[in-house]
Amino acid sequence: MTNFSDLLLDVARVRKDFPILEREVHGKPLVYFDNAATCQTPQSVIDAFDHYYRRMNANIHRGLHSLADEATAAFENARETVRAFINAAESREVIFTRGTTEALNLVAQSWGRANLGAGDEVLVSQMEHHSNIVPWQLLAQERGFTIKVIPVDERGVLDLHAYHDLLNERTRLVAVNHVSNALGTINPVKEMTATAHEHGALVLIDGAQAAPHIAIDVQGIGADFYALSAHKVYGPTGAGALYGRAELLEAMPPWQGGGEMIATVSFDVPTTFADIPHKFEAGTPAIAEVVAFGRAIEWVNSIGLEHIAAWENRLLKHASEAVSGIDGLRIIGTAPEKAAVLSFVVDGAHSQDIGLLIDQFGVAIRTGHHCAQPLLSRLGVDATCRASFAAYNTPEEVDVFVDGLQHVINMLR
Ligand code: PLP
Repeated sequence: MTNFSDLLLDVARVRKDFPILEREVHGKPLVYFDNAATCQTPQSVIDAFDHYYRRMNANIHRGLHSLADEATAAFENARETVRAFINAAESREVIFTRGTTEALNLVAQSWGRANLGAGDEVLVSQMEHHSNIVPWQLLAQERGFTIKVIPVDERGVLDLHAYHDLLNERTRLVAVNHVSNALGTINPVKEMTATAHEHGALVLIDGAQAAPHIAIDVQGIGADFYALSAHKVYGPTGAGALYGRAELLEAMPPWQGGGEMIATVSFDVPTTFADIPHKFEAGTPAIAEVVAFGRAIEWVNSIGLEHIAAWENRLLKHASEAVSGIDGLRIIGTAPEKAAVLSFVVDGAHSQDIGLLIDQFGVAIRTGHHCAQPLLSRLGVDATCRASFAAYNTPEEVDVFVDGLQHVINMLR
């Protein structure tokens, strides 16, 4: 039995912050292990919405009245909270988006459309989420550049020798995830960024899965762009952020036009644009969601990301050891550096059936290709079961999951 007593996370106290954990599913206590898809929100985040709509709802930036002022301040405070969370140098380097997907598309449509053309190469890894593949494929069809793929070995680790060989003077951008959503592999983004920079390429990091588990330091990494989603960090859906180095963002054209992002609009002389970050925030943003995103980060800070990470690592170790006793179960993704994700397949039991049946035990896991079809195909599977952990999960829940899994497998064989 794995020991948890040395860890500085009071899981009983943490769980009290999450009202949803009190509910039952099919008459059983909810065991929520689908955190990599979206994680649950603490009461303080739910309260942030309530407070926003009860006390300060107004459109931001343009109003002169008190509510507009307060809503603007709350929104801009959230920007500063995100800035500190990822250690950006300035808050104007943080652009609010609907999430990681929109952040990655922003880079493709603004920086990519302006800077990529025939003869250029973009490197993406074989373990990317589709949202860091498809925007580049769409743009490549239009702009005629080439996409090259950094391969992954059978453990789910990036082949860094191949990466070095792929980099050359035509490489303009390396787009890579910090942590794989399908396997949990942690990629050496700092080293990869340094190498890319030696070749004059920029680096875009998809941090959707890193943000809940790893202290992010965009300056320390040297990242040119970094994307994250609020709902993977105990926040709401519909909000996320793109970090971009100020000088890059300043040189990039807008990607969506509308209110908020202009300086002056005229039919007679060219329209001029607002300074960053507003140049990239056309229209009314998801104000309450952004405010709640800030509150979610404050919640994470109140627990301590390092304590959360240590707890989840121990859960991962416990779960990995426990499932390894199940006959015919194979863990997919055995990288030495992993975060909070246990992906597996079972001989004679289809992943979808496992996911459906284990729900009857109150256990929520995700099954399928996890929006990473090239990765799964490289590893010779078309679907896996994925249990992913968060700060509120317990070793007892892991035991319920493993028992349920064994029952389900017996039913299916
Ligand atoms: N990148 C990774 C690694 C992810 O895990 C996800 C979501 O699962 C995304 C990108 C897309 O994030 P969102 O759906 O919040 O835009």
